[in-house]
Parts: sequence; C-alpha cells; structure tokens
Amino acid sequence: MSKILIAEDDLITAKIIERHLQEWGYRVFIEKNGEDAWHTLEQENIQIALLDWMMPKMDGLQLCQKVRASRSDPYTYLILLTARTSTSDIVEGLNAGADDYITKPVEPAELRARLMTGIRIIELENKNKRLQKKLEKLAREDSLTGFLNKKNIHERLEEELSRGLREQQPISAVLLDIDRFKQINDTYGHNVGDQVLLEIAGRLRENVRRHDHIGRYGGDEILVLLWHTSTEHLRIVADRLCACISREPIPTDAGPVKVTVSVGGASSEDHFNISAEDMIKVADLALYDAKHQGRDRVEIRDILE
Ligand code: GH3
Ligand code: MG
Repeated sequence: MSKILIAEDDLITAKIIERHLQEWGYRVFIEKNGEDAWHTLEQENIQIALLDWMMPKMDGLQLCQKVRASRSDPYTYLILLTARTSTSDIVEGLNAGADDYITKPVEPAELRARLMTGIRIIELENKNKRLQKKLEKLAREDSLTGFLNKKNIHERLEEELSRGLREQQPISAVLLDIDRFKQINDTYGHNVGDQVLLEIAGRLRENVRRHDHIGRYGGDEILVLLWHTSTEHLRIVADRLCACISREPIPTDAGPVKVTVSVGGASSEDHFNISAEDMIKVADLALYDAKHQGRDRVEIRDILE
C-alpha cells in the first residue's frame, strides 16, 4: 500500500483529501506544519507527499528544497498544494524541486489522476535504481566467480596498503594460478574448465576470512588480499589455500578432475610503504618460482629495498 503524506495546516482541507485517499487505498499521514512533515518524511517510507505551499514553521517550497537537497533514495514524489496559479509561482514551485502542483480547492478526479502519474514515475525511478545497482555490481565483479574484477581488486590493494601504512599493519597478497589449466580445457572442454574455476572459487572463499578480498586477476589467476597478515601467517594461509584445491579432485560433468594451483605470496611486513604495483610484482615473481619448482606449491618472496 503506497504511503502518502498530507502536509496541510487547514485541517478541514486535510481531512477531505484524506477521505479520498483512503477510499483509493492509500495509507495516509497528516501533518500540520513543515517541520513535522519533514520528520514524517524522514521516518516513514513516504512515496508521495502533498505539501501545502503556505504552512507554519517551514513552507511547502522550503520543504521541497530540503527534501531534494538531502534525500534521493527512496525517491519521494512531491506535489505542491496551492491557491497560486500565476506562471511565475508555478515555475518557482517546480524549481524548488516539486514534481507537480495542484490548485486548491482540490478536485478529486484531478488529484487521483495526478497521483497515478506520481506512482508511475516512482516505479520508473525505483526500476532505474535497481538497474543502476545491478550495473555497478556487474562493473565491480567477475561474472563467473563473483570475485572482484582486476581493476577493483587492484584498487582494494591500494586502499589496504595505505590503511596498513597508517595503522602500521602488514598486508599480504596471495597470487594463485591454476596449473595446466589450458590442458583441462583442451581435454574436457571449456564448460568443464568453467566448472573447475567455479569450484576453486568456492573453496578459496571458504578458506579465507570474510573480510579478506578476493579478485580474479587474470584468466586463471586469482589474487587474495589478507589484512593484518605477516609473512609467517601468510605462509600458513597460502599453504591452506594451495592444499584446499589439490586435496580432493573437483567434481565436474566429465567426472572428478584432479587440479592443482601454484601460489606466490608477498607481505608488506617491514615495508609498509610499498606500492600496489610493486607488491603484485613480488607476488608474481614468487608465483613464477612456484611454477618453475614443479607447481602445486607455495613460494613466498621477501620484498627487497
Ligand atoms: P600454467 O601451469 O603454466 O599456468 O599453465 P596454464 O595452462 O594454466 O597456463 P596458460 O596461461 O597457458 O593458460 C591459462 C588458460 O586459462 C588459458 C585459458 O584458456 C584458460 N582460461 C582463462 N580464463 C578462463 C575461463 O574463464 N574459463 C575457462 N574454462 N578457461 C579459462
Ligand atoms: Mg595457469
């Protein structure tokens, strides 16, 4: 049921409008001055507000301006109730942020039609917001694994490093790369490859803390950021991540597939002012070591001055 606020100091007018609104199925709130109307708008999830232009404490125009300056989500459709009909008044009202205006005395059929327009606009507005949120999520995340994408995990690393520098806390980066992933794709097909990637993502997520960030850094490369993690602890986590993949074959449509990952790690311990690029470079060199020393293993490199 849509909620409507009537802000009107003339109680008889307010009651007449309320009766119509209730008949049409709206839930109605009445306030007698601009300030109380503002509080109700803040506290209740009001979709449409009918605001008298002339009101004590804060008039309808000021209230429109206040709502538009401070609240955009959820959108409130604002209709000014006014005896004024000159073009300059109407322009002033709309410029203050009102969506529409109705002249008094209120004609029920007109009010109803204008409310329908308001509801239509609110629905469009809400749909727009949902779409926008979805787009933001898509832009942030990798669609297969749900991990952050490369750009975002990189930004997160920059943020974590500057926070680490401020709080003198070490950050660790773990770079994992699936071993011979191309062969898995070639042998079983790309779909099975995707299933492998998805299962790996799930296992990794289960094996890090909830506030650690995970990003898909490249095709089969995954970057895990560990907050407040020294080199010593990094080794423990990296070993755990490596083992959680190799321990059990991955169930796929082509049957269980044995998969391993190679892991490179670096920690900012004793080097709090390292850049994100340098940190990744060190983790990447460590990953290279792990690949060259036979894969399915962890290598950690110290950050050199
Ligand atoms: P290495 O042990 O040296 O890492 O061998 P590799 O085969 O994993 O290395 P390479 O970099 O040659 O291959 C990575 C492969 O990852 C190639 C690409 O087809 C595959 N890949 C990347 N992204 C995806 C994906 O989203 N789905 C699937 N199925 N495969 C992917
Ligand atoms: Mg690989």
